[in-house]
Parts: sequence; C-alpha cells; structure tokens
Amino acid sequence: MPSPNSYRTHPSPLESGLRQDGKRMTPQRKKVLSLFEGIGSGIHLSAEEVHSKLTNSGDKVSLATIYRTLRLLVKMTFLNELDLSEGGNRFELLSHDHPDHHHLICIRCGRTEEFENKDVIKAGEVAAKNLGFKLLESSLNVRAICPLCINK
Ligand SMILES: [Zn+2]
Ligand SMILES: [Zn+2]
Repeated sequence: MPSPNSYRTHPSPLESGLRQDGKRMTPQRKKVLSLFEGIGSGIHLSAEEVHSKLTNSGDKVSLATIYRTLRLLVKMTFLNELDLSEGGNRFELLSHDHPDHHHLICIRCGRTEEFENKDVIKAGEVAAKNLGFKLLESSLNVRAICPLCINK
C-alpha cells in the first residue's frame, strides 16, 4: 500500500531549476524543458523531434543548439538520456512522480516502451550493498527489435 506521503506534490523541475544555483536557466533551456513538462513523463523524444516541435511553433533554433541544450538539461538532472547505439538518443523528463522504471527500446525505429520490475531494482540494491556503494537509481535499458521492424 502506498503511503499518503507518496502523493505529496513536488515542485516541478522547472520551478526547482529556477531556484537552483550554478547553471543558469536561459530562455532557450526553459523553452526545451517546458516542452517536456507540457507533454509529461513517460514520453521519450529524440533531439530531432524536440527540434521539429520547436520550429513548428515558430522558433528559429538549430539542431546543434537543441543537442547542446538537451545535454545540459541532462547534466542539470532535469532530463534523463537513453542511450541507443543505432537509433539516436532519446530524452525524457526526470520526475519524482515517475520514479525508477525500465525501457524496452527498438534499436531500428527508436520505439520505446516502459516497464516496471521490482526484481531489477532489488538486484541493484543488493549489488550496491554488497560492495558498499550508495545506490542512486537502478534502471535497465533493454535493446531489442520491435515487431514492426522484425517484419521489415
Ligand atoms: Zn522512461
Ligand atoms: Zn522498431
């Protein structure tokens, strides 16, 4: 049973970012982060998708700038980056409401499905404990080929 505490509202990443010292939240970074906040967690976008969404809404920004901005937001721990060797990387909002989860990723088309698995989290906990590490997160990215791409 989840305790009532797990429904606490957290400040949005954007709000906490504005309060964060160090790296500045420039209008460009804010715009990219707002895009992710607008679509919510559990959605995984490529840099190209972020770029076309912004240019469609009238922004003149280069793909290279989007890449730089995304990488920085990953460093600032607002976004999570999924490493796909063939399909180009994907980015998603890091959110307290959407904690440890795993990904099944199609290496051909980039389709990304999420799943939960307590055993994976447990395995990470045990390994960290045995070696005296402090656990931060356990997530598993499974590279695979989706049904559509298998039949191509
Ligand atoms: Zn995800
Ligand atoms: Zn696929």
